[in-house]
Amino acid sequence: MEPSENCSVKVALHIRPLIADERQQGCIECVSVTPGKPQVQIGSHSFTFDHVYGNGGSPSVDMFEECVAPLVDGLFLGYNATVLAYGQTGSGKTYTMGTGYNDNCRSGLIPQVMSALFNKVETLKHQTEFQLRVSFIEEMFPRTLILVGDLIMHLILKILKEEVRDLLDAVSLGKSDTSNSNGHSGKITVPGKSPIQIRETANGIITLAGITEIAVSTLHEMSAYLEQGSLSRATGSTNMNNQSSRSHAIFTITLEQMHKLHSVSTTNDSSDEDMGEEYLSAKLHLVDLAGSERAKRTGSDGVRLKEGIHINKGLLALGNVISALGDEKKRKEGVHVPYRDSKLTRLLQDSLGGNSKTVMIACISPADVNAEETLNTLKYANRAR
Ligand code: ADP
Ligand code: MG
Repeated sequence: MEPSENCSVKVALHIRPLIADERQQGCIECVSVTPGKPQVQIGSHSFTFDHVYGNGGSPSVDMFEECVAPLVDGLFLGYNATVLAYGQTGSGKTYTMGTGYNDNCRSGLIPQVMSALFNKVETLKHQTEFQLRVSFIEEMFPRTLILVGDLIMHLILKILKEEVRDLLDAVSLGKSDTSNSNGHSGKITVPGKSPIQIRETANGIITLAGITEIAVSTLHEMSAYLEQGSLSRATGSTNMNNQSSRSHAIFTITLEQMHKLHSVSTTNDSSDEDMGEEYLSAKLHLVDLAGSERAKRTGSDGVRLKEGIHINKGLLALGNVISALGDEKKRKEGVHVPYRDSKLTRLLQDSLGGNSKTVMIACISPADVNAEETLNTLKYANRAR
């Protein structure tokens, strides 16, 4: 398939309803959807996306079918894909993706991806051998940079870089200290485990050395790993909100297929061995991105400010990559796609662009108190189109 055949990046907007907290504060809605169009207004600004869900746009239940189901189908044809949830903390990213560990995330996109995947495997398994694997990582900023001044900080950022945490590690080891129920285990890394490293093969495949990849054979198993990894993400820090807003969570499903090529010969003497097998492998990254809010809103202390700046560097790089990919003209001119500008874009490199399909779901709150961040999100998403 020609990569330039049609645009490989789609951008959808998901507007959540006002939540109880916002109602209590007396917030009013400041985002309106143009009836019958994937278009929103905020103040004097207007933006059009591929799809708009919620708040008078299409119902959210259509999101999976319209945006993500085609990516699941693509996996069976060997195409990698990425789904990204972008937005400020509290805008509904985790709810949309279903990367939470509580009931209200059961209807998110990942659970629907998993059902669709297993349904399809079920219908094809008589002719094809499948293997499914999952991994679940969190990319976050180390907490050790707290007491350093501005200038030195800048230098240290270059040395320490982002930290990748393996959310299935404790699970695969038969559960260590993340599985306790008080929610405050404080586990950050498993002692003795070497850090995860990003490697690129000669043909451009990105692999993560040292990561836990678990083979799964049932929907139930896969759901359990999603849930346990989500729980591990939340309990890895003493402050759940704090942690999930500062880190990107990447749930990856890899589908391997071995398709037996049947003999078309009518005689019995040609042996099946000669016919061989067709092997396909593809992966789908489902990414619950770090909060996009500007650092000044995250807190007045210097620590969070630095972390905020750093996170935004990853999101900035992602915006640049997606914008370069989405721009037909630039792509035809062979404009450089800056994957190497952040660990996040490096991790996703082989599943963004080329033959891969990418869907970004920009999540926003309709509340007037969030208008400034909502506008930032709309601008970011608009640029990605
Ligand atoms: P984020 O991950 O972006 O920080 P969350 O997914 O945790 O945001 O959502 C923040 C709050 O809003 C949660 O209480 C969540 O249950 C609620 N919420 C988010 N999206 C929706 C939605 N579409 N419908 C109803 N409630 C939602
Ligand atoms: Mg979240």
